[in-house]
Order: sequence, then C-alpha cells, then structure tokens
Amino acid sequence: ITVSDLVDTSYKRISEVDDKVKAFLTLNEEAARAQAKALEESGQAGEALFGLPAGIKDNIVTKGLRTTCGSQFLSNFNDPLYDATVIQKLNAAKSITVGKLNMDEFAMGSSNENSSYFTTRNPWNTEHVPGGSSGGSGAAVASGQVLFALGSDTGGSIRQPAAFCGVVGLKPTYGRVSRFGLVAFASSLDQIGPVTRTVEDNARVLEIISGHDKMDSTSANIDVPKYTESLTGDVKGLKIAVPKEYLGEGVTEEVRNAVLEALKKYEALGAEWEEVSLPHSKYAVATYYLLSSSEASANLARFDGVRYGVRSPEAKNMIEMFKLSRSQGFGEEVKRRIMLGTFALSSGYYDAYYKKAQKVRTLIKQDFDNVFEKYDIILGPTTPTPAFKVGEKIADPLTMYANDILTIPVNLAGVPGISIPCGFSSEGLPIGLQLIGKHFDEGTVYRAAHAFE
Ligand code: GLN
Repeated sequence: ITVSDLVDTSYKRISEVDDKVKAFLTLNEEAARAQAKALEESGQAGEALFGLPAGIKDNIVTKGLRTTCGSQFLSNFNDPLYDATVIQKLNAAKSITVGKLNMDEFAMGSSNENSSYFTTRNPWNTEHVPGGSSGGSGAAVASGQVLFALGSDTGGSIRQPAAFCGVVGLKPTYGRVSRFGLVAFASSLDQIGPVTRTVEDNARVLEIISGHDKMDSTSANIDVPKYTESLTGDVKGLKIAVPKEYLGEGVTEEVRNAVLEALKKYEALGAEWEEVSLPHSKYAVATYYLLSSSEASANLARFDGVRYGVRSPEAKNMIEMFKLSRSQGFGEEVKRRIMLGTFALSSGYYDAYYKKAQKVRTLIKQDFDNVFEKYDIILGPTTPTPAFKVGEKIADPLTMYANDILTIPVNLAGVPGISIPCGFSSEGLPIGLQLIGKHFDEGTVYRAAHAFE
C-alpha cells in the first residue's frame, strides 16, 4: 500500500459519506495528494505518522489552508501565514492533512449546532448530534474518513464528541500540548488533543504533538514520556476512584449501568475501586461558564474587522466598522458569551463574579488533589446521556450547558481525561467511559484505557 492509496481511500470515503455526515468545512485535496506523491518519492518511511490521513479541527491554524473556527466572521481567512505548533509537529512526523473539520463557532457549544456553516451529524444515527465543539473531529474518525483527528477541549469538547461518536478522545494535562496557533477561546482551559479509533493510536499521536514550546509560555517544560510503552494491559492493583457525584441525578440508567459494567471488568483485571466524593462538582458548570466567558470576551476582542475577518461594508466610520462587523460576524451563542464575560469582568462586578469563580475553581482543583492522594485514576461516565437529537436542546442554553457537567471539572483542575467507548444504548448510540488522571500522568490514563479495550 502506498501513501497515495491511503490518501485516496480517505477522499473516497469522504465523497461516499460526507454529504450525510458533514464533518468537513474545507478539503485540502490538491496539496494532500501532492504531499503523498512527494513522500512516496522520498523513499523513506521512518517517521511516526508517515502518510497517515488526518483531519484538523478548524480552530487550529494551518498555513495557506482556510481556518474559519466554524464562524462566518472568518469565512475569508483563506491564507493563514503560519502553522500551529501541533501542525508543524504533525508535518515533521509526515502525516497528511486532508481537510479542516466542522465545529461550534469558536468552540462554544456541545452539539455542533452552533457552527455558522452547517451541523455535523452523528454517523451512528444522523438524526442525532455528534457532540461538540469538536463534533467534526469525532464524526470524521467514527465514519472512517480519516485515521485520526485533532480536536480542542475547553470544557469537554474532545471527550464529549468522542463519547457521542464511539471513538477515543483525550484532553491532555493543561500545558502538555502547545496552544500556539490554536485560536483562543478560554486560554486557561484550552488544550488540543487527539481523536482516534483506538487508545494506541491516541497515545501515538499525543507523543508527537506534546512538548514544551517557546511560543506558548503556558506549555510545560517537562519531558514527554513514550506513552505507547505504558500500554501493558496490566492494571493489577490500580486504585480507581468513582465519584458519587458522577453517577447521580441526570445520569441515565443505561449510562450508569454501562459504567458499573466497566467497573466489573476492571475488577476482573485485578484493579480495585471505591466510591469517593468530589464535593464541589455541583459548582463546576457555573464556575466554568463564568470564567470561560470572561476569558472569551477578552480573547475575541481581536476580531474587529480590521485585523481578521469579514469587514461590514455598511460602516460609515471606524466605530461603526467595529460594531457592525462584530454584530454581523458573530453568531448568537458567541455574542451571549461575550456579553456575559464582559459583564462579569466589569468594574463593580469583578469581585462578586470573576474573583469568586476563581476561588471556587481552586476548591474544585483541591477536590481532585485530595482524591489523587489515594487513588491512581478517577472513573465515571463522559456524559450523562448518549447523543441527543438535533434540535432537542438548542432553544435552551442552560440544558445544553448542563450536558458538560462531567467533563468541565477536569478542565478547571487542569488534569488529563480520556473518553473511550464502553457500550451502546438501547437506541444503538455509543456510551463513553471517562478516565481522569493526575497532572502529567497521561501514561496511567492510557494504561487503564488500553486494558479496558
Ligand atoms: N460545551 C462547552 C462550551 O460550550 C465546552 C466547549 C469546549 O470544550 N470547547 O463551552
């Protein structure tokens, strides 16, 4: 099999299924085929991801390849000047970018319905959402259009679509992967991570994209272990904590049963588990929406119709140009968050909202630290329910926000978390199992996930 065959297979699959799945916003066909040819002619095949077709979430900047963040505002951002660090690393490992994947606008959403282009569909049942915001990444991998994808996760956006689409998605420890070239949503929470079909593939991709980067001052200067070496299959004596808050109200019977079945399997493999408490979990959603919206309101100030994006043609002066470009360019959800965040940061309210939320964030992080003093892994569902229907939650932002209740605490604490498939609902939709590890201990997360597969 040649690299061109692999790339061919990917585009063939895209032409067969993507009019139904709608995962791709932009294809990179000409360049990808040329790259495949060049790799073949080079006659070398040493690099880790040699010739493997990849899809990239559209908030990761790709040189010369349109990057829209799922927003009409950036519909004309056709020619970015540089590659994100993760893209440079993938290029060095010789994977091939076949295209850019759909997402909720600026990564704000849990269903892909906030994309300002179209809604990606769940490949298992196209009446259902693929999850979000990396819904395109989950759907493209699940439907076999690419071998792996990159997503980004601020409050669950890799793990939740992975759960809904029945694939493997990892949010690394905050600082493990460079954010340089990831269009910022909430800088203290955002991380890029791999979406794959297997745990081993996931570990291989993370090995490539991780590491310190002088272009991202929040990237950690810590060695990157060989994650594939932790895939031993051995979980004897592994201490698993199951937070009671993660199996409580709102979690469906089917999801709970799937998780309990998973625990039985771990027991059979020689692991031990106990129930624990993460007592501040109930404040996580409110804390997250306050902090992430505050950070977003500052990060999205750069979209002004001057430096990036579509400029309103109707503006008669400079102030009107900012106002009209932003009010025409951003969608409803993005505007809602900018307004919420601007309010929370405004003088007179800062202490009552933003500062308080920061304090609660510390308490949530301490909950995790306490549990990790005694346990190796925290286990629970990734989401309270399997994939919901397109249209079911879009009218009510608060119900939509509540869907992330089990993934958000992980971002607030900065720890790594993976979602792996652990069964199906009676409707035939995948259920995701979430495994959460200590800071920079992706190795144990992968070991536990791999043993379960
Ligand atoms: N669904 C969450 C939100 O809307 C998380 C998004 C994300 O992780 N990017 O903010």
